[in-house]
Amino acid sequence: MIPAAEAEALILSQVVPLFSHHDAEVINLEQATGRILATEVISHLDFPHWDNSAMDGYAVRYEDVQAASATNPVTLTLSEEIPAGKPPQRLLQPGEAARILTGSMMPEGADTVIMQEVTERTETQVSVLEAPEPQQFVRHRASYYQAGNPLLSPGLRLNAPEVAVLAAAQCVQVSVFRRPRVAILSTGSELVTPDQPLQPGQIVDSNQYALAALAQQAGAEARCLGIVPDDPAALKVAIANALTQADIVLSSGGVSVGDYDYVDQILTDLGATLHFRAVAVQPGKPLTFATFTAQDRLGNSASSRSPLYFGLPGNPVSALVSFWRFVEPALRKLSGLPHSWAPTFVTATTRQDLRSGGKRETYVWGQLQQTAAGYEFMLAGGTRNSGNLINLAGTNALAVVPIGQNSVAAGSSVQVMLVGQPILNSGQ
Ligand code: AMP
Ligand code: MG
Repeated sequence: MIPAAEAEALILSQVVPLFSHHDAEVINLEQATGRILATEVISHLDFPHWDNSAMDGYAVRYEDVQAASATNPVTLTLSEEIPAGKPPQRLLQPGEAARILTGSMMPEGADTVIMQEVTERTETQVSVLEAPEPQQFVRHRASYYQAGNPLLSPGLRLNAPEVAVLAAAQCVQVSVFRRPRVAILSTGSELVTPDQPLQPGQIVDSNQYALAALAQQAGAEARCLGIVPDDPAALKVAIANALTQADIVLSSGGVSVGDYDYVDQILTDLGATLHFRAVAVQPGKPLTFATFTAQDRLGNSASSRSPLYFGLPGNPVSALVSFWRFVEPALRKLSGLPHSWAPTFVTATTRQDLRSGGKRETYVWGQLQQTAAGYEFMLAGGTRNSGNLINLAGTNALAVVPIGQNSVAAGSSVQVMLVGQPILNSGQ
């Protein structure tokens, strides 16, 4: 049994990130939300593309108006009107001003914009009532970004801001990392699918659905391979098959010390290196992490890499907690994200007493809320045991009781790991 931090570090050390030469695909910008950029984007456009006005007003020559004031206005002749979207037609001469609107191109000869609030206007002339700063309200060409420089770096997740930049740079197609492939199988002769009639003693396979949802939310493609009974021969075939088509294989169940827990033996028979079989966490102690060397890739045609294998515990809460704590960081690194693979922890005040056996790092599920005083953690109501998934609904955080501690008293500080859903706001 190894500590959680050690397990996390060991897992991350085994993950080979997707590589832009093998693992990139070109997609349309409309499909790019949430995907990860595989290659650097360089634009041939300057930003702004040309000198333009930051105000509705008048483009002028600074030297004409530098002495203007309310008592001594400078009157200029209007040369033209430049609406946004139309290039200027004339060179601005001394003594002239051009009517200009926000975003419009500056006419040649002009270097400064006077906002219309400090002017007086007739049909053909404008009087400037205040001296400007030189070059005021001019957005200069290439002052935000100069063509040819790196615009967006590989490894960036494409959310709304990045999509806006790509659209503005006229990148209608982008090269992104392919989605990691996660194969999922559930082990246990007691399991049935949610649409099968339930016989006494049977258990519905919720893990397959939960793990697929988690994998998809982490940006992966989930391949659900179904339920495999506790039969070593069938399980070996199913695991070998899963290994041929995924970057990460997740099985749940069959990794404890029960009579029907065959997963670890099968992995060994298939030539895997078992890095650990138990982690000092609660819930989620039985956790097998295995890798394969290039030779025993078992004909993996889906990828040039060797798959990672996570044998997750069967208990529904344990399976989810293990995914959040150990699989998700691996998936983030594999996806091509350059950093921030580890879960995010924040300090919160717990509203209730939190209890632990003291021997393992204990993850207690509940809800994190932001209040005027800071983060507050609220324990999920109902029975807390790793077989009860009913009170998991609404979970957005796991409070962590460290090893050696039996409780955290209500009102004390506790480290809280963020999972999935947004933090609640007490004002809502
Ligand atoms: P195991 O680790 O195989 O001993 O399973 C531990 C507990 O989790 C048992 O009560 C199983 O019935 C339950 N379990 C195993 N797999 C699943 C699953 N896919 N969905 C829901 N419960 C499961
Ligand atoms: Mg089982």
